[in-house]
Amino acid sequence: MRVFNFAAGPSTLPENVLKQAQAELLDFAGTGMSVTEISHRDKAFDAVVKEAEALVRKLLKVPDDYAVLFVQGGASQQFAAIPLNLMHNGKADYIVTGNFAKKAWQEGQIYGEAVKLADTSDKTYTYIPDVKALNYSDDADYCHITSNNTIFGTRYIEFPDCKAPLVADMSSEIFSREIDVSKFGVIYAGAQKNLAPAGVTIVIAKRDLIQNPLKICPTLLKWKVQDENGSLYNTPPCFAIYMAKLVLENLDKNGGVKAINEINEYKAGLLYDYIDNSTFYTNSVVKQFRSIMNVPFVTPNAELDAKFVAEAKKAGLVSLKGHRLVGGMRASIYNAMPVEGVKALIEFMKKFEMENK
Ligand SMILES: *Cc1c(COP(=O)(O)O)cnc(C)c1O
Repeated sequence: MRVFNFAAGPSTLPENVLKQAQAELLDFAGTGMSVTEISHRDKAFDAVVKEAEALVRKLLKVPDDYAVLFVQGGASQQFAAIPLNLMHNGKADYIVTGNFAKKAWQEGQIYGEAVKLADTSDKTYTYIPDVKALNYSDDADYCHITSNNTIFGTRYIEFPDCKAPLVADMSSEIFSREIDVSKFGVIYAGAQKNLAPAGVTIVIAKRDLIQNPLKICPTLLKWKVQDENGSLYNTPPCFAIYMAKLVLENLDKNGGVKAINEINEYKAGLLYDYIDNSTFYTNSVVKQFRSIMNVPFVTPNAELDAKFVAEAKKAGLVSLKGHRLVGGMRASIYNAMPVEGVKALIEFMKKFEMENK
């Protein structure tokens, strides 16, 4: 039986997409081979990469002067690629709103002066700072943010309007809400949260920013090289790119980002409303910054939290355990989580509350 999977990443994928991949597995596009067996130089695979790129461009309305790249190494590898491609003056601003934001900032320090503009760990990362009140560096090469904080369940509502190019880690929310790409210098996202299996990372970068990577930048991390080679400089993560293409086709068919955003807001609204009206469950994120993708919550004590996770699993609601840094529970309700999954979770929460209050 297929369960409702609330994992933060790798995470649930649309069932119809999985079925399509299954149906095409032994004979992809009339090649008599699976997509994992054909050459990445085969024209059948070249078409996959080109279609995936075209779908990213269409769904996010990416301007023509931006590169769309499919690279490896996860979002974490991009923590290094960012300074290696952009840090010409040796200085960048970082807004630290969670664990991944902190890791990006720490990686930035290897290559130059990584200025921490704000750090919300004072309140266990339960809010986003006022981006209008921050003291941006005049000579920064870029300003880095994490737009949705996967572990702590926060997201930016308003983005910094800084002079330096804005670089955003959107791993856990890309394609979940509409964004104005032209406001960003670089957007990047590991696929395994809201897009595809692990193995591919999307980078969307304004081309005029990426023409002069630092001398020490490894060839594979040079966005310019990836762009000039259509993400095929070396063997790409073929299967993950293929799956991303199927997921994006499916999203496009179902009304695109605007339509899925309405569903995402509805799903998150159901869950937060239930939590807020309950005297048993708590979510401690400042309301205006609540993520619509990752919803952390707790019961009155850690013992009940553990019981909740175990019993939910038996009821077919899996991977609800919170991140080890915060404990409790976390429901990741990405694009592929159906409304019925969230409703089933709420029904389970009601029952658990009644039995354990
Ligand atoms: C998961 C995640 C990462 C790390 O991704 P990897 O692909 O494991 O390197 C980075 N940033 C955010 C916001 C994430 O959710």
